[in-house]
Amino acid sequence: MRVLENLEPKKVFEFFEDLTRIPHDSGNEKEISDYLVKFAKERNLEVIQDKALNVIIKKPATKGYENIPGVIIQGHMDMVCEKLKHSNHDFEKDPLKLRIVDDEFVYATDTTLGADDGIAVAYGLAILDSNVIEHPAIEFVVTTEEETVMGGANELDTSGLKGKVLLNIDAEEEGVFILGCAGGILVYPEIKIEFEDFNGESLQLEVAGLKGGHSGMEIHKQRGNANKLMGRLLYTLGKEVNFNIATINGGSKSNAIPRSCKTIISVRKEEIEKVKEICANLEKDFKNEYKVEDSDIHIIVKSDEKLEKQLTKKVTDSLIRFLFVVPDGIQSMSKEIDGLVESSLNVGIVETLEDRIKFIIDIRSAVRSKTHEIVNRIEALCDAVGAAMDQNGEYPEWQYEPKSRIKDLSVKTYNNLFGIEPQITALHAGLESGIFKEKLPSDVEIISFGPDIFDVHTANEHFSIESVGRFYKFLTQLLKNMK
Ligand SMILES: [Zn+2]
Repeated sequence: MRVLENLEPKKVFEFFEDLTRIPHDSGNEKEISDYLVKFAKERNLEVIQDKALNVIIKKPATKGYENIPGVIIQGHMDMVCEKLKHSNHDFEKDPLKLRIVDDEFVYATDTTLGADDGIAVAYGLAILDSNVIEHPAIEFVVTTEEETVMGGANELDTSGLKGKVLLNIDAEEEGVFILGCAGGILVYPEIKIEFEDFNGESLQLEVAGLKGGHSGMEIHKQRGNANKLMGRLLYTLGKEVNFNIATINGGSKSNAIPRSCKTIISVRKEEIEKVKEICANLEKDFKNEYKVEDSDIHIIVKSDEKLEKQLTKKVTDSLIRFLFVVPDGIQSMSKEIDGLVESSLNVGIVETLEDRIKFIIDIRSAVRSKTHEIVNRIEALCDAVGAAMDQNGEYPEWQYEPKSRIKDLSVKTYNNLFGIEPQITALHAGLESGIFKEKLPSDVEIISFGPDIFDVHTANEHFSIESVGRFYKFLTQLLKNMK
């Protein structure tokens, strides 16, 4: 019994339901990749499967479109696998349990649905399967491991691709067309630790109660960064109190704005009251400064067990200066798209290891030279405080280009069909499109869009049946209009 069999467009939902029966966590794409190869072979379509399990299926132009430049339709085959705590769903082998709610939405019971990006795959297969849709030559490119490291896109050999337009179907809001994304890099400053015996009273300081959020998509909210606020607290304290840091730890992920940061300091007994007073005053300032986005912010000061070792004064000072001065948050705004962050960074993690204090900083920008400028600024600061710095994980941006034929054609097509003017925007986060922009010839135009999908990457993920249908109508009309 198929759950989606009465939904229209029939083929789209049929293929989508097929996909939900095949496990396809990132890194576990063999079976779904083989399914795509089999699909192509059954229809005598040219197909390539590479080592990374990416699949490219090619279909010739339909009659009258032979002389039009080809189109690349692109999505990713892997999905984020999240489930509710009580669920015993096994993503390695169980099919998802689809259900239709209120005739309006499709969910998977207790798990992610994989509409991100199974819907793109279903659209592509439905188009390839059809013999009535008119279109230029199609190269359908389905990548692997998008949700983790963009491994598929990184590995993909694009030299055989001939299309002059790339339609990336991996956006989650219908009527919003994406025409750019950020690139980025991770940097890892490190301060070598020198220890001495712990020689004071032990106090634990914590900046807590912050909301955090995604360091790309939510950086514009200008929420507090617990690590940075700890830097400010320690610097302020250092003006009036003599203390040493023993340990400092804050943040959980490089791409999450840290919600709390804890430090243990060693301080003379007579100065404990002073520390408490300074922290109370700072808490008032923080509450005032962040009253809109982070009203629950607070500073906790409490006695702790004495430790064996503390950082020397020199290391304590280097650490405080670094954390206080290192840039964080929005660095520049786009001058082309209102309200879009162009460059930012997130001091995501500070961690005390056996022999060093390690920071992880996530830098993003839509302009590569600005990414590098921020890296250099952190490097200069490292030099000034005697820290070292490593970097890795660089990924390319897709810089917004206001002149775009595919944008104009997409807007016109959508508007003619539905009488609605789509919104044009760019994302302050990395997309596979950035990698394609870098790999493909510079005259290839890219646009990213998709139907309404909600609560993506959570067990509540669901899509709008109507929007999936509407977007398919738009997509097929767009192909037709390419002539
Ligand atoms: Zn996706």
